[in-house]
Amino acid sequence: MSACTIDGKAIAASIETSVRRRVDALKCRGIQPAITVVRVGDDPASEIYVRNKARKARELGIAGDELIFPAGLTEEALLAEVARLNGDATIDGILVQLPLPPQINATRVIETIAPDKDVDGFHPFNVGLLHLGRATLAPCTPGGVVRLIDSTGETIEGKRAVVIGRSDIVGKPMAAMLLARNATVTICHSRTRDLPAVAREADILVAAIGRPLFVSASMIKPGAIVIDVGMNRLERSSESEALLNADGGKLAQLRSRGTVLVGDVDFARAREIAGWITPVPGGVGPMTIAMLMLNTVEAAERRHQ
Ligand code: NAP
Repeated sequence: MSACTIDGKAIAASIETSVRRRVDALKCRGIQPAITVVRVGDDPASEIYVRNKARKARELGIAGDELIFPAGLTEEALLAEVARLNGDATIDGILVQLPLPPQINATRVIETIAPDKDVDGFHPFNVGLLHLGRATLAPCTPGGVVRLIDSTGETIEGKRAVVIGRSDIVGKPMAAMLLARNATVTICHSRTRDLPAVAREADILVAAIGRPLFVSASMIKPGAIVIDVGMNRLERSSESEALLNADGGKLAQLRSRGTVLVGDVDFARAREIAGWITPVPGGVGPMTIAMLMLNTVEAAERRHQ
């Protein structure tokens, strides 16, 4: 039997509706929620991300500003800018788009953002609260994944969850969130022995690796919830064609456009085994920005309690 597809776009839209309502309630009290998104340099992907974040904020009634600096900006200048934003009482959320140019230490920048304005949830103070299981501004992508799992109506408590990937922005906070919801959690990474056997034990399998179609159908427990965080762009080549040989739709896109976006899961085959599965695109992607908006309104509410 084929898995049910989890519709990230629809779930993100319902979160955005609730954000809009909370923004309106703040505005009734004379409070204008605001986020500033900072970009340094002209990385084309960052340009799109920053523009989309600021645009989505404005769409939901949040003041969304973009601050753009040249690639040669010094670390001192960026830290001074972050300090200025920290001190600006009209701003609730600060997001510095990563990656930053090599002369700037991203860790130092993240640590300079005021924790109560850290809408990415990357500041060590917020990371600490998350791992203590306490309420905090939590990273948006794993936060979105929890919402996607909840949308299936399945309980998380007591389930075996396996997270593949241990990055600070996805894998580790993902594991902390699933643990906080009383799942029994295992984290896999590049040194994990017999990863397929570990993955096959998962009732909930989250793939956040960055390797196209890494998770094959044989790594999935029948009926599992499979969440694909990966976003990998394939260019036309014989290897890409071979990889996509079970997915007629993606293969056709690759041939017509010369490029196609795929996840870390072999969706076409995995859907025959899983109970629930997210597509790429249209699964985790739309949730990340919706959760950023949720964190921004949350930060504004907390600052004006
Ligand atoms: P990352 O920092 O590169 O981390 C990748 C993780 O995968 C690492 O922990 C690495 O293990 C592990 N890994 C790599 N190759 C492996 C292998 N062969 N076997 C087992 N584990 C392996 O990546 P990330 O920032 O977490 O992102 C992961 C993916 O999610 C990327 O495709 C990214 O584009 C996507 N993403 C999507 C969104 C969204 O909004 N949809 C947001 C963020 C990220 P080691 O630690 O041992 O090296």
